[in-house]
Amino acid sequence: MTCIICYAPLKAGLSGWHRTCPGCAYEGAAHFVTPAASDEDLREASLNALRQENCRTVVALTRQFAAPRANTLLDVGSAHGWFLEAASCAFDVLGVEPDEALARQAAVRGLPVRIGYFPQALAEGEQFDIIVLNEVIEHIPDIRAALRDCHQRLAPDGTLVLNLPSSHGLCYRLSKLFARFGLHAPFDRLWQKGMPSPHVHYFNPANLTRLVEREGFTLRHSTELAAVKKEGMWRWMTVFGQVHPFKAPLRYLGMRWVVLPLMRLFPSDIMVCIYRKR
Ligand SMILES: [Zn+2]
Repeated sequence: MTCIICYAPLKAGLSGWHRTCPGCAYEGAAHFVTPAASDEDLREASLNALRQENCRTVVALTRQFAAPRANTLLDVGSAHGWFLEAASCAFDVLGVEPDEALARQAAVRGLPVRIGYFPQALAEGEQFDIIVLNEVIEHIPDIRAALRDCHQRLAPDGTLVLNLPSSHGLCYRLSKLFARFGLHAPFDRLWQKGMPSPHVHYFNPANLTRLVEREGFTLRHSTELAAVKKEGMWRWMTVFGQVHPFKAPLRYLGMRWVVLPLMRLFPSDIMVCIYRKR
């Protein structure tokens, strides 16, 4: 296997399925996908507040770095439609979502969503001023084909917005440290191993940009989004399993007053990179 960014031979990583590139620090996975019952709805509800705030931040960044007259926006993998909802005040939006149940849920709320895959769900020659992939690109095995499709479906001077996990993030780096000492659970969880839609890539801002720029884009801006916030944290920590009356509040206080302030000193686990079509 060779690196999708710099073509160097990949090295064995921290698990049988994990590969790393010694040349550019790209990380990839050869997962065996084992669809399982999803707790997606519960998880989505618990992360709602943070997600919604991050959606608003991405909309503001898109407005700031897209061409001044940019108006039409395509959200690839629009899921529950939260980003569409946030973006609809600034742009003329459309979502594409392959999960029929999710797409219908969003449509019931009045959001314009087409059921299907990108770009097959689009009409021939249909183009947009902005294409956004929120936590999508890291799931796509043939990422370069996806980037080429984005390039083709963007109008001249169009803007590509990618929002995805960062291998520079503190949680990811800690999970790798734990994996080196034999504790694989956090590492597997961050790659979403064994879940219906695992991650197949982990990038940092530099190697992602190297890949995207080769497909005909130029970086306009790159930044981080909060991965954890104190708002909604109690719900996030107690949504699964039994809540111990004593341990759960202690864990919450530890997260709130020790872990969270420490995390702010390190790079976040979510990055946003904004590119302009060349
Ligand atoms: Zn590489």
